Amino acid sequence: MTRRAVFLDRDGVLNQEVGYIHQVEDLHLMPGVAQAVRRLNQAGLFCCLVSNQSGPARGYYPASHVDALHDRLCHLLKTEAGAKLDALYYCPSLSAPEGGIEPEYTRWSTWRKPNTGMLVAAAWEHDLDLSQSFMVGDKATDVDMAHNAGCVGILVQTGFGDRVLSGKYQHFTQPDFTATDLSIAVDWLLQQVAVGN
Ligand SMILES: [Mg+2]
Repeated sequence: MTRRAVFLDRDGVLNQEVGYIHQVEDLHLMPGVAQAVRRLNQAGLFCCLVSNQSGPARGYYPASHVDALHDRLCHLLKTEAGAKLDALYYCPSLSAPEGGIEPEYTRWSTWRKPNTGMLVAAAWEHDLDLSQSFMVGDKATDVDMAHNAGCVGILVQTGFGDRVLSGKYQHFTQPDFTATDLSIAVDWLLQQVAVGN
């Protein structure tokens, strides 16, 4: 039996958007986020991080640093509200024209948003129904990836979200729902699940 998932972007959705995080201790959750993820856990939805992390391709830090950031993220979610992510996917790759310089990670990748590779991999590995799943992000590319994969796309106004909506960042996109933050996004998507949408 396939499961419904909620895919979550990282920067600007779970933790504060502060650009590339070079020090692990500089990763901080936004208010109410741990409680929101806990509610998704309690509802039995599969919670899955999907994140573009081009730092390794740009030569800023090794992929092991991204893993260390994710260890801290999971620790903070657990200690603050007993919340957990069921799986974490990230794309460390970037093409050379986009700024990739580290040979190991410099390539075009189906995993890089708005391509759907991370969602497709997660669906295969965890038996998820993408057509019944949600994606929450703060960029137009998050919403675009959701729609490219047949998921419901939710834009939060934290991180870059407000700038996307005012046309000052990336490009126009049409989210299925716009939420002030992750808590409000979770309110809405749990309602959708409850009424069988
Ligand atoms: Mg983001």
